[in-house]
Amino acid sequence: MYDIIGDIHGCHAELQRLLKQLGYSARYRHPDNRQLVFVGDIADRGPQVVEAYQLVMRLVREGVAQCVMGNHDLRILNHLSGQGKVDSPNTRQSMLQIEAAPKSFQADLLSFLTGLPHQLTLDHGRLIVAHAGLPTIHHGQNTPEARQIAIHGERVMHNGKLTRVDWAKDYQGPALVVYGHTPVRKVRWVNNSVNIDTGCVFGGKLTGLLYPERTTVSVPASRIYNIKSGVWDQFGI
Ligand code: MN
Repeated sequence: MYDIIGDIHGCHAELQRLLKQLGYSARYRHPDNRQLVFVGDIADRGPQVVEAYQLVMRLVREGVAQCVMGNHDLRILNHLSGQGKVDSPNTRQSMLQIEAAPKSFQADLLSFLTGLPHQLTLDHGRLIVAHAGLPTIHHGQNTPEARQIAIHGERVMHNGKLTRVDWAKDYQGPALVVYGHTPVRKVRWVNNSVNIDTGCVFGGKLTGLLYPERTTVSVPASRIYNIKSGVWDQFGI
């Protein structure tokens, strides 16, 4: 049994509240031994990036959680490993927080991020978790293309702008795909897929999906931490 958590983006206080609401103890254990799964994007935009990573890393190390790579986590990894410069103000903010933390944390974070999978196949193939969603053809595939799509999603040029493809409306696979990446006002079920990124950092909610129950629990953001124009209507919903 899993509790799958949407994009955190440094919203550590909301994460703690959500885990409490889901029935986890102060030591983050569930009385029914439920496991946590994070859809990625622990970093960027929010106030407590270090604390959020520390908690997720601890839970993974203790064997009670798994996590997939989000595009924002990959940016942090690229920076920590010296590939590419920080060209986003959000990532620069995260890096300031990370660089102010102890060196040992930075080393642990680098090794944690290096080891993150781009997708998880759970419940004997009946459940797939990938940050940006994943078409059937890439399920269980460890290829550069599967990794690219799982972390960034598919994008096409539309009116001269790179635009995210609403992959879920064409999804026909048998596995339930749980993902985040594109903020939605309400948990969005389409064709055996579910987007649980309810935009906490943008003043929305942090959501957990209970599996196999297929119910959700959300906690509201304490405030709007980040404003990005058009963030709520990328798919016109
Ligand atoms: Mn995100």
